[in-house]
Amino acid sequence: MRPIHVIGGGLAGSEAAWQIASRGLRVVLHEMRPVRATAAHKTDGLAELVCSNSFRSDDCATNAIGLLHEEMRRLGSLVMRAADANQVPAGGALAVDRDGFSAAVTSALAAHPLIEIRREEIAGLPPADWDSVIVATGPLTSPVLAEAIRDATGEDALAFFDAIAPIVHRDSIDLDVAWFQSRYDKAGPGGGGADYVNCPLTRAQYDEFVDALIAGDKIGFHEWEGTPYFDGCLPIEIMAARGRETLRHGPMKPVGLTNPHAPEEKPYAVVQLRQDNRLGTLFNMVGFQTKLKHGEQTRIFRTIPGLQRAEFARLGGLHRNTFLNAPRLLDATLRLKTEPRLRFAGQITGCEGYVESAAVGLLAGRFAAAERRGEDAALPPATTAHGALLGHITGGHIETIDAGPRSYQPMNVNFGLFPPLVRAPTHGADGARLRGPAKTVARKQALTARALDDLARWIGRERVAAAE
Ligand SMILES: Cc1cc2nc3c(=O)[nH]c(=O)nc-3n(C[C@H](O)[C@H](O)[C@H](O)COP(=O)(O)OP(=O)(O)OC[C@H]3O[C@@H](n4cnc5c(N)ncnc54)[C@H](O)[C@@H]3O)c2cc1C
Repeated sequence: MRPIHVIGGGLAGSEAAWQIASRGLRVVLHEMRPVRATAAHKTDGLAELVCSNSFRSDDCATNAIGLLHEEMRRLGSLVMRAADANQVPAGGALAVDRDGFSAAVTSALAAHPLIEIRREEIAGLPPADWDSVIVATGPLTSPVLAEAIRDATGEDALAFFDAIAPIVHRDSIDLDVAWFQSRYDKAGPGGGGADYVNCPLTRAQYDEFVDALIAGDKIGFHEWEGTPYFDGCLPIEIMAARGRETLRHGPMKPVGLTNPHAPEEKPYAVVQLRQDNRLGTLFNMVGFQTKLKHGEQTRIFRTIPGLQRAEFARLGGLHRNTFLNAPRLLDATLRLKTEPRLRFAGQITGCEGYVESAAVGLLAGRFAAAERRGEDAALPPATTAHGALLGHITGGHIETIDAGPRSYQPMNVNFGLFPPLVRAPTHGADGARLRGPAKTVARKQALTARALDDLARWIGRERVAAAE
C-alpha cells in the first residue's frame, strides 16, 4: 500500500504521523530542518516548541485546554505522552522540558518501523503521484511552498499575518447597558437588522479610553516579522495615536444607532461586537486588532460600558502567521475541497497553540488513515474539545465581508466553541441554588463531563469501524 506523506515535523505533523503509523499504515514524514531553517526554530528536533514551554492548564474538569489534553491522552497521542514524560513543575499548568520533550517525540517517530523521516524541503505542491498528503508546515511554512498553496487556493485564501480582534463570551456582556442593533437597522445578507452588540461611550469615557490605549503596554514585533500594518488592519492603539478623533471616525463611529436604554442621549462613540460563530456564543470586537499586552487588554477593554464583566474567549494580537481561510477551503475532514488528496493540519488551518496544533494533527492523521483503509472517517462529536476545534476550522465560523482583515482568524480552544448545555446545572450537590463563580464552575464541569462521555462513545464507534 502506498504511504501517506506528512509535510512538516512540528507539533501537528509529528502527531499525524504517529496516529497513521499506529493504525498500521506507512508514513513518510518530510521535515526541512536542518536542511532549511525557519526564523523561529533553533534545533533540528521534531515537535520543537518555538517559544514558551507551557501546554497551559492541565485541569480537565473546568478548562477547555485541559480537556483537550485529556481527550488527546485517551486518543493515544504521542505529543501528550512525551509531554507527560517530560513535565517540569508549573503549578496547575503542564509545562515541559523542551529538549526532553522534542527528543522523546523524535526518537519515538524514528524508532517506528512504519515511519520514514526525510530531511528535505517540499518546495512546491507535492508530486501528483502522492495521493494522500497532510500539509502541516505551520505558521512559518517555507515561502516556496506557501506561494504554491496560495496559487492553488487563491490570492486571499492564505494569509501571512493574523489580525486578531478580541472575542467575548456573549453571556458576559451586560445587555442592561449594551444593546443589539445594526447601523441604520440594515438587515444585510444573512442578518436580521440587529446583528451587532453596541456599547455606548460618553465623551469623558471615550477620552479616557483613548488615553489608556495610547499609554498601555504593547508587545513589539520580532525583527523577522517585519511590520505588517496596512490601512484597514491597523492596531487600535496605533489608530488612537494618529489623532483623538480617529477611532470615532473609524471602528467606534456612533452613527446609525439609537440606545434603547437612553434614546435621548446620543453616544459620543460606540464599540460594536459582531457574532463570531454559528452557535451565537461568541462575539468579536469589530476592528479591535491590537498589540496591547493581554493583561492590558483585559484591564482597558473592561472599562467599556457593557463589557465591565466581559469574559474573553480570545484576546487580540497581530503576528506573522500562515493560515488558510479554512472554513471556505476545507471539507469536514480537513481536505482541500478543490484537491482532496491534500489535507491540512496544525496552525496553518487557523487553530492557535501547540496543543491545538497537535490535536488537529491527531484528527488529520486519523482521517487520512481511515480513508486509506476504505473506512468512513467518523467525525468527533461537536461536544468534545476535538469536535469544537474542528467546528471552528471547518464551519463554525461566520464569514463577514466588512472592510479590514478577513474575519476568520486563529483561535485557541475555549468553551465558547462548544454547543451550550441543553440544561445547565442550577443547584449544587447540597441542593443549594448555584450563583456567581460556583455556577460558572458547575457549567464548565458539566461541559467537560459531557465531552468525555461523548468521546468514549466516539472511540467505541471508531473501533467498530476499524474491526469491520
Ligand atoms: C514565533 C512563534 C511563537 C509561538 N509561541 C507559541 C507559544 O508560546 N505557545 C503556543 O502554544 N503556541 C505558540 N505559537 C503558535 C503555534 O502553536 C506554534 O507555532 C506551533 O508550533 C504550531 O504547530 P504546527 O505543527 O502547525 O507548526 P510547527 O510546529 O511550526 O511545525 C511546522 C514544521 O514544518 C516544517 N516546514 C515548513 N515548511 C516546510 C516545507 N516546505 N517542507 C518541509 N518542512 C517544512 C518546519 O520546519 C516545522 O518543523 C508560536 C508561533 C510562532 C510563530
